[in-house]
Amino acid sequence: MNCQVKDELVNQLTALNNKLNLLSPDLVHGDAERAEVQQQRENLYAEIKHHRAKGHEGKPCPAARQV
Ligand SMILES: [Zn+2]
Repeated sequence: MNCQVKDELVNQLTALNNKLNLLSPDLVHGDAERAEVQQQRENLYAEIKHHRAKGHEGKPCPAARQV
């Protein structure tokens, strides 16, 4: 089963992971930016978890096992 919402959330997560990888530790503001991206990732994880558990009118996502 596919789920567009799940796919979109996972895409966002992938984008954040890529962004995190691109943030060099040498950057002057790298730490603050990394912390911000990591916070966004935490939020996204929580959203994905919630969607998997009851994102479909209170029911589990049919694509949950692919997340
Ligand atoms: Zn879903």
